[in-house]
Amino acid sequence: MTSVLDRFLRYVQIDTQSDPQSESFPSTAKQRDLSNLLVVELQGLGVEDAHLDEHGYVYATLPSNSNKTDIPVICFCSHVDTSPDVTGADVVPIVHKNWNGSDIILPDDPTQILKVGELNDLANQIGNDIITASGTTLLGADNKAGVAEIMAAAEYLITHPEVKHGTIKILFTPDEEVGRGTEKVDLIKLGADYGYTVDGESVGTLEDETFSADGVKITIHGVSTHPGYAIGKLENALKIAGDVLAALPKDSLSPETTESKQGFIHPVHVEGIQEKVVVEFIIRDFTDEGLKEKEDLLQDILNTVLNQYPYSTAKFEVKEQYRNMKKVLDKHPQVIANAVKAMERCGLAALPRSIRGGTDGSRLSFMGLPCPNIFAGEHAFHSRLEWVSVQDMEKAVEVIVALSQVWEEEA
Ligand SMILES: [Zn+2]
Repeated sequence: MTSVLDRFLRYVQIDTQSDPQSESFPSTAKQRDLSNLLVVELQGLGVEDAHLDEHGYVYATLPSNSNKTDIPVICFCSHVDTSPDVTGADVVPIVHKNWNGSDIILPDDPTQILKVGELNDLANQIGNDIITASGTTLLGADNKAGVAEIMAAAEYLITHPEVKHGTIKILFTPDEEVGRGTEKVDLIKLGADYGYTVDGESVGTLEDETFSADGVKITIHGVSTHPGYAIGKLENALKIAGDVLAALPKDSLSPETTESKQGFIHPVHVEGIQEKVVVEFIIRDFTDEGLKEKEDLLQDILNTVLNQYPYSTAKFEVKEQYRNMKKVLDKHPQVIANAVKAMERCGLAALPRSIRGGTDGSRLSFMGLPCPNIFAGEHAFHSRLEWVSVQDMEKAVEVIVALSQVWEEEA
């Protein structure tokens, strides 16, 4: 057994919720409460350079203990913040030991029930020790499971010098949940060649592909008049926006009608008055061409609608959000191959797969640190039913250790 359970229980009781409305960095000062603790604990393990920088990032180095000199430097990365969707204050973690498969009713709100048939992967956990929150908060396994696993793996490597590895870098980031996790990261200082975010779901998960993502903002300028004297003049921007939304495909190209490798056009925000309306969309696909097609379609829809409103105008703005990391990872096949090898060594059949979303790793990959995502065991994240099993966390520690070894052996 490693220290992963102890660490996890300690870390989830520290409130680190991030805040999308905040303009400071990190978005909430309380994230530093955990980051500071991690630095103290790393220093306690003898990791001399562990430190928290002015932006709230933790950097630390486990020096190589191998006599090979050409081993790539590998980074393990997790985020300390929790989702703004559900409170992370006063989390009371509960360990349901040797779980027998029956419904888990959370004591502080009995309407919150983990049911075998309803939660992905829960049925595979009978006999394991399941950790949940108490019903009124999230648990924070996303991503404190990853944080605890990296910490426990670091402790294991330090206390087992017979396990050979190259230089290992540890990076704990703030504000992943509000999309700013990589904003102030210093990759030069980090000095890693390749990385792994430890922020995936079920055991064996290895994600090498994310969405490519753009945002589209349409600003519609209608023609505003006094409604009592508007005949033949008024062109209501609210109705134009409504027409645009109504003209979107009904049976395809939306989140609710697509899966696996299909992309979508998704309105996320509408705001305005009869004179001016702003409609915001997110566009998702796995290829740049697919993104472009969807943006062209949306532009066509807008133009067609505008033809019926001769005096109204609209501005169509596209903003890049992130790109599919597979484009980068395909140039560095060893990153995935070594992860597959490490998981196999731990008895897991790893299957590289795609996620219909983005990760900090997609941004890091394009910033110069190829960085797929491996499992942390976290489940039902961003909800009060969030759970993780102790056995899955132990497995993740094992994989991080094995991965460190594989890179040394392959060098
Ligand atoms: Zn996460």
